[in-house]
Amino acid sequence: MNPQEPTGIIFDIKHYAIHDGPGIRTTVFLKGCPLACRWCHNPEGIAPEPQLLFRAEACLPDCRRCVAACPNQAITADGRSIRVDTTRCRACGRCAEACPTEALRLVGRRMSVTDVLREIEKDRVFYDESGGGATFSGGEPLAQPAFLTALLDECRRRGIHSVVDTSGYAPSAVVRKIADRTDLFLYDLKALDPDIHRQTTGQDNRLILENLRLLAREGARVMLRVPYIPGVNDDEESLRHLSALLKELRTIREIALLPFHRGADHKYRQLQQDGEPWSGDIPDPQDLVRAKAVLESEGVTVRIGG
Ligand code: SF4
Ligand code: SF4
Repeated sequence: MNPQEPTGIIFDIKHYAIHDGPGIRTTVFLKGCPLACRWCHNPEGIAPEPQLLFRAEACLPDCRRCVAACPNQAITADGRSIRVDTTRCRACGRCAEACPTEALRLVGRRMSVTDVLREIEKDRVFYDESGGGATFSGGEPLAQPAFLTALLDECRRRGIHSVVDTSGYAPSAVVRKIADRTDLFLYDLKALDPDIHRQTTGQDNRLILENLRLLAREGARVMLRVPYIPGVNDDEESLRHLSALLKELRTIREIALLPFHRGADHKYRQLQQDGEPWSGDIPDPQDLVRAKAVLESEGVTVRIGG
């Protein structure tokens, strides 16, 4: 690895992704996020540093190799299962290497720009045929600005279409810099009510809205993505606010409603942390169709799903 080259922490790379921008894409997930949305589908992407996932169902009774492998006494065995003390764990990965069943997995590893581009290049034939490219998601990719900038510059140099999937919660100078380098933003807007936003994500939405207006003014290509979450942003008032915002943002004409689903519940268990999966309901498909119609009346293209 070139010591001058920017590096960053990646927690996953998904090949042949079809919901993260146009065409067939390679999605690179950067670890670390300043928000902590209570319904987050990638909770393993929130902490900036590498961490362990544990699948209890794959753990062998009486094995305990991980307990012996850990140099920090971070793992204790308890009957058929084990418990990781996250305050002692230093994410060295020795336990995962020792585990015969992959019940333990370290998520998050440092990669260079060259490492990541090597993965992206594997799918180039699909980009050429489908109009796809690379998507940088997370976590929050803007939370690793130097690394993301270098990745986008390298994509542009190689003629690879790029998408940045962001919450927009970043300094405006960073957003501007990235806007000069990416072909499309997928901009996730969680809630327009500031109190609801703070309660459910841990942060205020003022900066997010400022940055969205900045991108609209500068004519950046943006697809708005709104997670549709019963009890958070599915009421009449939320839809009215969103319609008014779309009317104001004249250059942003594409929006996707992403219905909440329970596909990530198992990850909360595997992280062995205090956080619980979001306990709210899955949206009624009829409600989504109704919300789509309301937003379409603002002259925008609305899609249900990513
Ligand atoms: S990752 Fe390293 S420090 Fe953490 S539990 Fe495993 S062996 Fe111990
Ligand atoms: S090494 Fe793997 S299978 Fe063995 S006790 Fe630890 S987690 Fe379970």
